[in-house]
Amino acid sequence: MLTNEYVKRVYDQVQKRDGDQPEFLQAVYEVLDTLQPVIAKHPEYEANGVLERLVEPERVVKFRVAWVDDAGKVQVNRGYRVQFNSAIGPYKGGLRFHPTVNEGVIKFLGFEQILKNSLTTLPMGGGKGGSDFDPKGKSDAEVMRFCQAFMTELSRHIGQFTDVPAGDINVGAREIGYLFGQYKRIRDEYSGVLTGKGLEFGGSLARTEATGYGLCYYTAEALRVLKNDSFEGKTVVISGSGNVAIFATEKAQELGAKVVTASDSNGYVYDPDGIKLDIVKDIKLGHRGRIKEYAERVPGAEYHEGCAGVWTVPCDIALPCATQNEIDEASAEALVKNGCKVVCEGANMPSTPEAIAVYQKNGLLYGPAKAANAGGVAVSGLEMSQNSYRLSWTFEETDAKLKSIMESIVAESLAAAKEYGEEGDLMAGANIAGFVKVANAMVAQGIL
Ligand code: GLU
Repeated sequence: MLTNEYVKRVYDQVQKRDGDQPEFLQAVYEVLDTLQPVIAKHPEYEANGVLERLVEPERVVKFRVAWVDDAGKVQVNRGYRVQFNSAIGPYKGGLRFHPTVNEGVIKFLGFEQILKNSLTTLPMGGGKGGSDFDPKGKSDAEVMRFCQAFMTELSRHIGQFTDVPAGDINVGAREIGYLFGQYKRIRDEYSGVLTGKGLEFGGSLARTEATGYGLCYYTAEALRVLKNDSFEGKTVVISGSGNVAIFATEKAQELGAKVVTASDSNGYVYDPDGIKLDIVKDIKLGHRGRIKEYAERVPGAEYHEGCAGVWTVPCDIALPCATQNEIDEASAEALVKNGCKVVCEGANMPSTPEAIAVYQKNGLLYGPAKAANAGGVAVSGLEMSQNSYRLSWTFEETDAKLKSIMESIVAESLAAAKEYGEEGDLMAGANIAGFVKVANAMVAQGIL
């Protein structure tokens, strides 16, 4: 609950201005709520207007993306880039191509990204972008033409020292390749302006795996520190079947867990013997198919229509890796009822506030997205370093750096939580630790 007068004033203002952006309000409320003890202890933040500046993006770019489909018809989509905060580095964050994308969704993602990037300890500000373009069912040539049209406008606003986009939902190696090619052509410049690039043109080893692997490193470390436990022998429910879910499944299996589910926007599969990841990879990475195919190919596996049902599968650990607000109060209650003790988030803001309240009431270990899924952007930061050095590190070197960053996020979060009287609270700790660094940089740089 908001009780601090300054925090309340700032939130009221956001509500007045952005009342039509529910996801953004949700993200802001959660952060402001947990920052109250910090604000109370540090009057300089109010004196410097840090919170009212933090919740207002430095810049929002919104543009038309016109392209021609395979049938020769003109299509028009909306493009966005929200340059939220550059206090500790160039704007950094992914691009999402999905029909649900609008300004409020990009703003919530950009806002989360500020604190997430800060937690990685690397010098990256917060930004996010995307379009309501839906690559599903589009040909490669259509995706290429869309990406070229999108980058034609975006290229005016980004640069290796200004703003460095990457992937997010539906933006992977293929899209980043087309986007990079178009930037290079327009600007006549070969630079690390995007991350998640192909290995042949400046990409980093372990970037593809980073968010999923990082999620498991984070979860394993939190389990070790808070519960003296591990993944060994645990049953894990994972939603999604994109990049994050696939590599979370791979690492969880490697760490001794049995992952029993995968899902997409149509439904989920349950495999009591444990998900055969080579089949999921073949379906999703091989030919962009639907997860339903898994049950057709694997005897003993079941397919269920609708993705919310995945949370009714009994498990010890749940790793939501699909999208925002995928776990509501009822799903959280179903998880608890079936014995789930840990929820760590691979997707961005996958739990509604009511679901988080259920985790807290029942004493679950809850690892919030901006900490638990920071591995992706962390390796993006490492990709930027490698591009600047003009060299590339080995997989093992990069993976080891990722692991140590994820472990340090757990430690930083717990230390911050303890300092402000919220011992053991990974959510408050992540918000506080991420915020303090950005806030101090904002104060030091003056009113901007
Ligand atoms: N989209 C990812 C995220 O939510 C990665 C962003 C990046 O690598 O810049 O953090």
